[in-house]
Amino acid sequence: MMDYREIILHWLFPLCVGACVGSFLNVCIYRIPLGKSVVTPGSHCAACGAAIPWWRNLPVLSWFILRGRAACCGTRIDFRYALVEALTAALTVTLWRYYAATPVLAVIYLVFTAALIVATFIDLDYFIIPDRITLGACVAGLALSAAVPELHGAASWSAGLLRGALGLVCGGGLLLAVALLGRLIFRREAMGLGDVKLLAGMGALLGWQSVLFIIAMSSLIGSVFGIGWMLVNGFRRGLKIPFGPYLALAALLWLLGGSQWMARYLAYLTGR
Ligand SMILES: [Zn+2]
Repeated sequence: MMDYREIILHWLFPLCVGACVGSFLNVCIYRIPLGKSVVTPGSHCAACGAAIPWWRNLPVLSWFILRGRAACCGTRIDFRYALVEALTAALTVTLWRYYAATPVLAVIYLVFTAALIVATFIDLDYFIIPDRITLGACVAGLALSAAVPELHGAASWSAGLLRGALGLVCGGGLLLAVALLGRLIFRREAMGLGDVKLLAGMGALLGWQSVLFIIAMSSLIGSVFGIGWMLVNGFRRGLKIPFGPYLALAALLWLLGGSQWMARYLAYLTGR
């Protein structure tokens, strides 16, 4: 039986926080590739520069209230803004509930997921993932591995740091090998260094086991999506598909059950 405290704590609270964080992520997605500050100035219209007051800047809701047009000058607002906010809100509720027993891990994974959302949409727009995000994830991943060794199921800070470092080297190294091999075989850039740095950061935070899962899962999803895309739109030579979003999706699946699934699969393989 759900009482109102349960509803507020596990649904309403993460939903509102997530929607507001999503609103901030939109700012990050728009400003980081332009090299602008994500803090100042406050929200303003990208078309006419007018400041946007907070009551016209409500996550998800404002887009529908204003019917997708800016209140100042009537310029169309991309539905993607509302989508990013709704996605962030949904993932915040999901992760918050999934890691309800370990709030510290929940918060870390939520910040990580927020970074993945920003990386995904910047990669879709520009085919790059900024160093601020990827190298930031590497540094934060190592620091958190030492500060919160529970991330790796370790008991001491040194053991946590060691596993974080192992994950970082594993993630960066394996994908770098794939990238170099791809360049050798296809004679063109199959994978950017941004993807390599991103997976290194994922490995630092999530451990080396996650690296194997993320590579396998992102390749699988990427292939299925790529083939589907070609069936619908026809084959085009030199079609550029960013890989970052698939890495992000796979990392999210790892957080939401992939790690347990992988542990069971490994136990099955080794007959234990
Ligand atoms: Zn305007």
